[in-house]
Amino acid sequence: MDTVKTIKEVREYIKQWRRQGLSVALVPTMGYLHDGHKSLVERASKENHRVIVSIFVNPTQFGPNEDLDTYPRDLEHDKKVCESAGASLIFNPEPSEMYFDDRCTNVEVEGLTNGLCGAKRPGHFSGVCTVVSKLFNIVTPDRAYFGEKDAQQLAVIKRMVRDLSFDIEIVGCPIVREKDGLAKSSRNIYLSKEERQEALSLNRSLRRAKKRLKDGERDTNIIKKAIEEEINKETLSKIDYIEIINSEDLKPVEKIEKTVLIAIAVFIGKTRLIDNFTFEMEEK
Ligand code: AMP
Repeated sequence: MDTVKTIKEVREYIKQWRRQGLSVALVPTMGYLHDGHKSLVERASKENHRVIVSIFVNPTQFGPNEDLDTYPRDLEHDKKVCESAGASLIFNPEPSEMYFDDRCTNVEVEGLTNGLCGAKRPGHFSGVCTVVSKLFNIVTPDRAYFGEKDAQQLAVIKRMVRDLSFDIEIVGCPIVREKDGLAKSSRNIYLSKEERQEALSLNRSLRRAKKRLKDGERDTNIIKKAIEEEINKETLSKIDYIEIINSEDLKPVEKIEKTVLIAIAVFIGKTRLIDNFTFEMEEK
């Protein structure tokens, strides 16, 4: 498994593979890979002949006060994960390979990016959609794999692919968790021992919400309150948002009548973590 740093090299690989009639998958990541990323690569390599994993800490999706400079990196570890999961190639460009100094084009997905992380992280999805579009144009994959952990991102990318007629199938993959329920994240490394313990409140609060829903509760305010109470039991935690939204258009709902996404973001100390689940309703 090779690691390349230029667009030209990626395109050479793609050309060769296409000549042989092979299918190609892309798994975009920011590196510091864990079992969540690994599950995407494994699935991609089961469903495609060749898998490219991009490892790029994309500066344009970070806000001015976010963790771009401290974002964890470990390429040697990432290579091992990719190799063991069946990847064919790592694309690990420098920012200067991806961005011209005088670039003036961005991809904006409107509406779906108004709430949740879009509201809390201005410019984030513009950065994500632009870099993912570039990766799609560089790799021209048949399929691209994204985690349901970033549920809004997955919905936004699906809409972008539809709206811009990218000929790419977007595959969503389930959230991979630690044994104690915490969703795996590269950012979990930031947590102190105490914070790591507190971070369990994200999953615990969602499980509490799920139980209320299963018991028949349909009022979003009551469900939100249950989540809030659970998180506020902790001392180092600060809720960024708790949202219950339609899983298609990501608009807030008051009464739960159709399939909804329950998504939360919580600061544990300085570390911002997200989690979510989808509650499927039988359509009447
Ligand atoms: P990141 O490196 O955080 O940008 O994530 C790269 C991809 O891995 C995204 O599609 C994420 O949704 C996905 N991902 C991250 N964490 C998990 C997880 N715990 N389970 C499943 N997918 C994940």
